[in-house]
Amino acid sequence: MPIYEYECGQCGERFELLLLNNTVPRCSSCQSQDLKQLLSGFAVSSEASRQSNLKAARRAYASSRNVRDQKVAEAEEIREHSPAPLPPPKKKS
Ligand SMILES: [Zn+2]
Repeated sequence: MPIYEYECGQCGERFELLLLNNTVPRCSSCQSQDLKQLLSGFAVSSEASRQSNLKAARRAYASSRNVRDQKVAEAEEIREHSPAPLPPPKKKS
């Protein structure tokens, strides 16, 4: 979807607009049409890409730790996807 970032020439407000058919962009603060379009790198941001970035970051984090912690991370991931997680086994001496 075409999302553009604008800066208002009147009040300096910065905002992002999703441009649908022939929508005239207006400042979200003062309704001015004196807008400057900014070339931002955020146009591709979406919930999906954020989540995949988060997963990649968690994987990198897990692999940077020792094997035992990595197993814990894997167990957490399994737990996230199972509806009824089993409690950890109790050990009695
Ligand atoms: Zn404005």
